[in-house]
Amino acid sequence: MRALILHGAGDLRLEDVPDPVAGPGEIVIDVTAALTCATDAKMVAAGAHPALGPLPAPLGHEVAGVVREAGEGAGWRAGDAVVVANSAPCLDCPECREGRPNLCRRITYLTGAFAERLRVPAAIVRRNVHPLPAGLDPALAAAAEPLACAVHTTRSCGPLAERRVLVLGGGVQGQFLTRLAARAGAEVTLLDPHADRRATALGNGAARALPVPADDRAVEALRAQADAGLVIEAVGRPAAWRMAVQLARPGGEVVFHGGCPAGSDLSLPSGPIHYSELTLRGAYHHTPEAFAEAVATIAADPGFIAQLLHTPIGLDGVPHALSASRGVKHPVMPMR
Ligand SMILES: [Zn+2]
Ligand SMILES: [Zn+2]
Repeated sequence: MRALILHGAGDLRLEDVPDPVAGPGEIVIDVTAALTCATDAKMVAAGAHPALGPLPAPLGHEVAGVVREAGEGAGWRAGDAVVVANSAPCLDCPECREGRPNLCRRITYLTGAFAERLRVPAAIVRRNVHPLPAGLDPALAAAAEPLACAVHTTRSCGPLAERRVLVLGGGVQGQFLTRLAARAGAEVTLLDPHADRRATALGNGAARALPVPADDRAVEALRAQADAGLVIEAVGRPAAWRMAVQLARPGGEVVFHGGCPAGSDLSLPSGPIHYSELTLRGAYHHTPEAFAEAVATIAADPGFIAQLLHTPIGLDGVPHALSASRGVKHPVMPMR
């Protein structure tokens, strides 16, 4: 079969590789649709990532498909249409026992969705594979993985009704966070330099969508105006992390949802962190619960996902798509 294999930083190749075979508890799916993701672009640029095995490694982690082969005890049958998560927790380590399975120290990750077929490890088959909801376009269902990250982050913030929330960044994750927070009753202000992304955010329930403040004085004016007790950073750059801290109101919480490039160091203003008693924390990945909720959310609201997807491409179009437009989501149809 054909598969995209990452050999090193910037070295992504479309290759012929042996067909995968399902072992006990595993399934092999024919990939119907995968999605490109900014994380894929990050993996290619760096040639490494926590969710990526040692190189050479197959790429792609947002996927829907049809079961081709089911190993003994897998619980699926050939022909079943499925949505597959890119990880599964062990449920037995200290972090899993503390109810934080997204931080599992023995997490099983899965990449290799940019291929004609994909072998799904038994741990994921057991805990994180769902039937494709009836009538749902598989390309939309494949967005369950990135949406699950936004579900995890918004859930971790507690009840959002009536809260004033500031979202930094109107990329795919910023739009997901805006939609979820607005649906939960928050009053969302979104910041993004691009007018089209601001318009999309208003369509997704943001009360306000504003350009990024140009200097510290404009940041301070916006902080006073937005009066946000919760700031969610969804850009993934140190400058945006800094601005997120500057924009929280006293006693507020800042959640870093966007991962910065590997090895990034931060410079943050100590004043508001100390005198305004800000709470700063990261948010990473998703849980099986969040993934299940994401699948259900997409089934109930597919149009919301469809507006965020760009033109479908084949496997041969992926390397260019990842280098040309990092944040853009293209459906990847391996069979075309
Ligand atoms: Zn992704
Ligand atoms: Zn664990």
